[in-house]
Amino acid sequence: MTDPAGQAVPSHQFDPIGDLLGRIRLEFADDHRGDVASYIPELSTADPEAFGLALVGVAGSRYEAGESGVPFTIQSVSKPFAYALALADVGMEAVLARVGVEPSGEGFNAISLEPGTGRPDNPLINAGAILTTSLVAGGGPEERFGRILDLLSRCAGRELPVDAAVYRSERDTGDRNRALAHLMRAAGSLSVPAEDAVDVYFRQCSVLVTAADLAVMAATLANGGVHPLTGERVMDQLVAEQVLTVMATCGMYDYSGEWLLRVGLPAKSGVAGGLVAVSPSQFGIGLFSPPLDERGNSVRAVEASRAISERFSLHLMHQVTRTGPSFVLVAEDGTEMSLPSPSGLGVVDVPVLSLQGYIEFASAEQAPLGLRRHVGDAVVPQGIVVDLDHVTQFHPVAVLLFDAIIGQLARRGISVVTVDRQGRGMVASAGEFPRRAEALAHLRGG
Ligand code: GLN
Repeated sequence: MTDPAGQAVPSHQFDPIGDLLGRIRLEFADDHRGDVASYIPELSTADPEAFGLALVGVAGSRYEAGESGVPFTIQSVSKPFAYALALADVGMEAVLARVGVEPSGEGFNAISLEPGTGRPDNPLINAGAILTTSLVAGGGPEERFGRILDLLSRCAGRELPVDAAVYRSERDTGDRNRALAHLMRAAGSLSVPAEDAVDVYFRQCSVLVTAADLAVMAATLANGGVHPLTGERVMDQLVAEQVLTVMATCGMYDYSGEWLLRVGLPAKSGVAGGLVAVSPSQFGIGLFSPPLDERGNSVRAVEASRAISERFSLHLMHQVTRTGPSFVLVAEDGTEMSLPSPSGLGVVDVPVLSLQGYIEFASAEQAPLGLRRHVGDAVVPQGIVVDLDHVTQFHPVAVLLFDAIIGQLARRGISVVTVDRQGRGMVASAGEFPRRAEALAHLRGG
């Protein structure tokens, strides 16, 4: 484990996540199914036993197990990052006009092109990735590749090298990819020479990474495009969200649907055995194990991701059960009052509603209902104090909801004031006060 400052935490210290990764590694280390890719001759030299896992949180903590520092070529895991660059350079609409976002349901190197136009189905299969390189801004292949390498490196937080032997090996044998480029060129969808497009693509696939690098790169996507360790914004938040969306639907080739069902996380795999998966807003994981299944996804990386997702309950569609309300009704002296109140409004002329934590739709929507249960419908309070001192953040939908609630109450003659020692102005009210007593005095006095 490494803390955000890059300091290794001594192994005798508490490291539950590192332990968990180590246990998952052991569990699947004996799974010897699958074959190391050999259609790119240089890839066939990979060690089939190597198996590395790494996890990086959005706050910058790092956890690793096994061969997480062994270098391998990034291959198709580069595709979402090149797509990010194209989105940043020419915008989503222009990219969408040239490359679709529909799962192809076919192998990674299939001729998944729209009949007539030659538009590839999505940017995460070979055809789409080859076209994507041509959308990256740059005067020629050198500059385009330079910019892709720069983005990959900034996401990883270090200068990534290129494996010249793998590049040459793929360049010398990549006739199928060349054919895809020529088909797109013939159909008019590829606007640069086929040879230029595949050359950038072969180079980007030959960039060397480790599972630890992949976890940092995945965490950058999880963190809305901000590198979790350097704090550098490497892509816009919107671009990161668009990339994650396409990874969720198309990242695992013709296994994408089943992957989403079983694992439920945006992901991307590569034929050298690499895999990234992202838990949005939480962390990224990077895995490496060269033997592949028949779809070209790493057998152990898929199994381990599935175990991590199941054990951590990470599936995107997983319902988060709230254990209690994020608001309480309090008396002037700060004591919590029961909901509903047995005595009605008699006790409070100005109710104080104290909110805490992260306010999302559910809590913003429930707060006025809770208040109503307490004061009843018959009595109209003079005003309401909403104490925001313990709120960490408002989701934008909760801000909208509070605006609407405060507006409706104002139309009924009830004014709402807020308390916030830090004066953050999180919601627009009839007045914000640093202390509860001042808010109450304001409402009672006028
Ligand atoms: N460079 C590889 C190819 O084009 C990448 C494919 C992959 O990782 N699935 O065949």
